Amino acid sequence: MSIDQIAQIVRACIETRTPITTRGAGSALEGSTIPLANGIVLDVSRMTRVLNYWPEDLQIEIEPGIIYDHLNNHLKRDGLFFPPSPGGSGDIATVGGMVSTNASGIYSVRYGGTREYVLAMTIVTGTGEILKLGNRAVKRSSGYNLTDLIAGSEGTLGIIGSITLKLAGIPEDRLQSAFTFPSETAAAKAVSEIRRYGIDIAAIEFLDRHVMRALNALKGYALEEVPSLFLEFHGPKSALESNSELAGGLCSELGGKPLILADGQRPWEIRHWVTDSIKHFKPGHRIVRNDVAFPISKLPAMVDYCHQLGEQYRIPMFTFGHVGLGLLHALMLADDHDPGQKQRVEQANHLIIEKAVALGGTISGEHGIGLGHKDLFVSEHGDAVELMRKIKRQFDPHLILNPGKIFDI
Ligand SMILES: Cc1cc2nc3c(=O)[nH]c(=O)nc-3n(C[C@H](O)[C@H](O)[C@H](O)COP(=O)(O)OP(=O)(O)OC[C@H]3O[C@@H](n4cnc5c(N)ncnc54)[C@H](O)[C@@H]3O)c2cc1C
Repeated sequence: MSIDQIAQIVRACIETRTPITTRGAGSALEGSTIPLANGIVLDVSRMTRVLNYWPEDLQIEIEPGIIYDHLNNHLKRDGLFFPPSPGGSGDIATVGGMVSTNASGIYSVRYGGTREYVLAMTIVTGTGEILKLGNRAVKRSSGYNLTDLIAGSEGTLGIIGSITLKLAGIPEDRLQSAFTFPSETAAAKAVSEIRRYGIDIAAIEFLDRHVMRALNALKGYALEEVPSLFLEFHGPKSALESNSELAGGLCSELGGKPLILADGQRPWEIRHWVTDSIKHFKPGHRIVRNDVAFPISKLPAMVDYCHQLGEQYRIPMFTFGHVGLGLLHALMLADDHDPGQKQRVEQANHLIIEKAVALGGTISGEHGIGLGHKDLFVSEHGDAVELMRKIKRQFDPHLILNPGKIFDI
């Protein structure tokens, strides 16, 4: 499919007022690719061409259907990579889907989220018009930043036909370390301290004691069941060691101890199994999750709050996430055969998201709004939602692009 064909499809859909739900890999977690209002699903996953490549400028122009891992395989021969990974879905998520949800992953602590890597894009708006947004300048002070507006808009403002991305050099070396802590609060404080000291760190992942227990249950790791931080540093060897020592010193001031892993065990492999191990912790239960984000200093309070709710509502509560960004996932297990328990899980989830907003944060730091978070969208954005509705009508006056997602018109 080409951008011209996308424009033809949009024009045909305008005639019949047919809704269009654009779909990459369909891996988004908030239901944003569910065609709520029927209509057509526009699958762009076969638009996988590299349109232009400028390795000397660290830039590439691609079609939106390229899978994240495939793009990085293509780039690595030139020592380059596209850093903002979509976590465990890197082998399926398309770059168009990542842009549309402003995806981020473990290395976003150092490198930022997807939006920060989008220099330009071609879109088809809901009027069938083809628009080129942005250009290849890495720094610009030239009017409204429309690429930023489209990134994270979940297919509600336009269909992305091509994307020009900024790339980064693959770091010379990496160093991973892991620490255990006497309490979740101590681990959360260590994150804040590491950031405050300006230590150059690529990833800080937090796993609470319940997550460690679930990992042991699924994988038989025999990890100490206490809260832990997994750290990764990027750069030349000399810098890695001094950064790692500095971070290690701050962790030990807060009671942290190096996590002893069995031979051959690596922190990131363990991290990879977190969601699966929670899923298997109580067979027959369904995961209810959130992806709140908030100012980093609020992390201890947020983690504490989630565990208090877990106890008060008598529900399995697991917290983990890319905490270096102030991003936390609280996962709960709902028993669909027990309406009372299911309701308690949903209430707790709601309260956690409300708390994040009350602490100056967002209802979604990572996965987007889709359908899952729509009910709380106004609580975060207030009167600005009215302005968003006007913007939506400018891009999509016939309201055919992914209707019913993010907010109601
Ligand atoms: C196991 C697992 C782990 C995950 N971990 C993470 C994580 O760590 N971080 C994270 O951010 N996300 C994560 N996700 C969520 C998901 O993978 C990301 O949101 C991803 O970026 C979605 O890409 P996709 O190609 O599947 O997009 P889709 O699900 O197909 O689409 C997502 C949204 O983008 C829109 N869209 C897609 N392509 C276009 C286009 N060309 N033009 C306009 N709109 C478009 C769709 O309409 C939809 O609204 C995870 C998902 C899974 C299943």
